[in-house]
Amino acid sequence: MNDLLTYFAQRGEALLDLLRRLVEIESPSTDKAAADRLGRYVAQLAEEAGARVTAVPQERYGDHLLARWGEGEGGFLLLCHLDTVWPLGTLAERPWRVEGERATGPGCYDDKGSAVIILTALGGIRELGLALSRPVTVLFNTDEEVGSRSSRSLIEAEAARAAVVLCVEPAQPDGALKVWRKGTGRYTVTALGRAVHAGADHAKGINAIEELAHQVLRLQSMTDYELGSTVNVGWVRGGTRTNIVPQQAEMRVDLRVRTSAEGARMDAAIRALEPVLPGARLVVEGELSRPPMEESSTTLEPFRRAQEIGAELGLKLTASGSGGASDGNFTAALGVPTLDGLGAVGDGAHSADEYVLVPSLPERTALLAALLTRW
Ligand SMILES: [Zn+2]
Repeated sequence: MNDLLTYFAQRGEALLDLLRRLVEIESPSTDKAAADRLGRYVAQLAEEAGARVTAVPQERYGDHLLARWGEGEGGFLLLCHLDTVWPLGTLAERPWRVEGERATGPGCYDDKGSAVIILTALGGIRELGLALSRPVTVLFNTDEEVGSRSSRSLIEAEAARAAVVLCVEPAQPDGALKVWRKGTGRYTVTALGRAVHAGADHAKGINAIEELAHQVLRLQSMTDYELGSTVNVGWVRGGTRTNIVPQQAEMRVDLRVRTSAEGARMDAAIRALEPVLPGARLVVEGELSRPPMEESSTTLEPFRRAQEIGAELGLKLTASGSGGASDGNFTAALGVPTLDGLGAVGDGAHSADEYVLVPSLPERTALLAALLTRW
């Protein structure tokens, strides 16, 4: 089995070069034409690695891709997103660079390193003449960074046919896989008051900003680090001008929870917000948009299997979790065994410091190839 490590280590330069090519095709979630450019290239590479590729056309986002090796139910479903949080032009500001063991460039770690690992692992398996232990479907989606609204049903339908979901998202900086992820909620809370002249009629007004301020403090105080529940008021807006008592103010809120039960409790608490000022009204919109991936047999059993297979390669795999959600949240919530964090090792997702540890590319590729042929 160490042969796989040797084989992919010899392809270190090709792995790095492919990562450069994928990074240099910018693919923000919000630009369909750009995402489709990357999608066409990835589809071609998947076909060269032996896949049958079908595009699932999208109007707003890039087309999602299904790449299949083999037929039938009970297979592996690999999840990988082609979109990034980086707008077109980021590459010109922060071009691809390799310095020592670190490769940098927009989207290199989240999640283009994963596409490199998947394509190279499957190409290598084919070249080595190894047999996949189950049929493989790779779903490359293009809206993960904006909540996977257009791909969620596809992810869930494919997961329902699969025996195991391998969510190929970045690993932790220490290489740990992810056996839990928090669930995410997004809310907009609008406070409605009564607008009057701030000089002539101050007493008759109901200040929507004042009302919202009460609610900001109330929401922020719902955070409970021990339970792993956090509430973040991340954006506020209100009022028109200083000489008018404001009619309206609103905020956008991010909720994170470790368990579904806690998600339901927090969701209910946010919906139950009551106005503080007499006459003020509140409108709460939003929901728990990604359920939590709870640490349970659904995530721990596949982790243990991966640990055994990793050990045969001489790799010591560890488990951890993340406050950030992924598409693995959807599949784990369905009860389909899900293992997350199989992508490149690095750090700095969604930041200008994003990097991939170059030596992790062959190692993770060998690990994925072993999982797909030995599971
Ligand atoms: Zn990601």
